[in-house]
Order: sequence, then structure tokens, then C-alpha cells
Amino acid sequence: MAGKGKYFEDLVGQLYRLIDNAGGHTANDALGEAIEAARDRMFRQAREARDELREKLVNKTKAERKDWLRNRDDFPREPSKDGPSVVTAAIDPETGITKAGVNHRSNKPHPYGGCAEDDALDRINAERQKLGKHPLGRHQVYYSEALRIDTGSQMPICNRNCQEVSDPKQYPPGTEPMQPGRWTDPNRTDIPGGVE
Ligand SMILES: [Zn+2]
Repeated sequence: MAGKGKYFEDLVGQLYRLIDNAGGHTANDALGEAIEAARDRMFRQAREARDELREKLVNKTKAERKDWLRNRDDFPREPSKDGPSVVTAAIDPETGITKAGVNHRSNKPHPYGGCAEDDALDRINAERQKLGKHPLGRHQVYYSEALRIDTGSQMPICNRNCQEVSDPKQYPPGTEPMQPGRWTDPNRTDIPGGVE
């Protein structure tokens, strides 16, 4: 097996030298940049899905938005009292499945659930189930910034739910968190990390 180990060492060495020579910087830098580029692509794809859904809902009345959610083809659900007002999208890094979502009436124990992010993830998991794949958690997908449907302005990531179950690196750089909240609290190191 010593020979095989040497073969792989040589191969890895060659790859690192290739990357170094090609980019004029270290292999670790190149890998870091590749990861960032992949993340950027996912954020762009999520924003497209989010904007498409906002476009569909922006000119609907409150009652029409509620009806739309109750009758949605792939994932009908009960609207909150004021109906959908926030939209976002999530992307599954494993399959690339990208789904938009809206705020809704939560059937999870208070204070969790009900966010547009939860809706997007539920729709992703419904597709994953069809592929025979296990459901993902909130800390395992990437998201766009959330927008208010009416104005298109950014809705800060909520402190009661989203900040507790996901990490800033799952959102585009500069995404605003509600304050105070876990993301900006230096004493909060007790929550499982997000996606790598
Ligand atoms: Zn939230």
C-alpha cells in the first residue's frame, strides 16, 4: 500500500502546483475562492426564485394572497391572520432544488416556525422526499435576503426563530439581522453551526 499512498501524494502535489501556477496564489486561496463562487451562485439562484414569487404576489390583495397559499399546488398551507407579507427563497446545496416561501400560520410549538424561510425549506423537503432523500434542517440550506412583498425592502432576519436555527454564512453577505439577537450577541456560542 506504500506505493499507492505515494501515488496519491504525488497527484495531490501536482494538483496543488497546478493551482498555484494557474492562479498566482496558494491552493488554499483557490479553494476558498471556489467555495465563495459556489455560494454566490446559490445566493443568485435563490434571489431569482424569491423575486419571481414576489412579482406574482405584489399586486394581489390580502384575501387573494391567502387564497393562493391555501390552494398552492405543491404545498398548500394555512395563512397567518394578515396573510403573506414576506417572501424569501432557499436552496438545497446537495440537489440544487430552489424554492421560494412566504410567512404563514405555524403549526410548530411557539416561538418556532411560521417564517418565509420555514416555508421555503418545507417545499424543498417535499421535493427531496420524492427523490427518496432525508429532510434537511434549517441549518443545512442557503437563503436569499427576505423581502417585504409590498415594498420590496429587506426584512431583517428574525431573532425569535431564524437567528436561533441558522447562521449568517447561510445568507448573502450583509444580510441584516434583527437586533438584539443571537447573531450579534457575543455571549451566544451555544447553537449548532450552519452549513460548511
Ligand atoms: Zn424568521
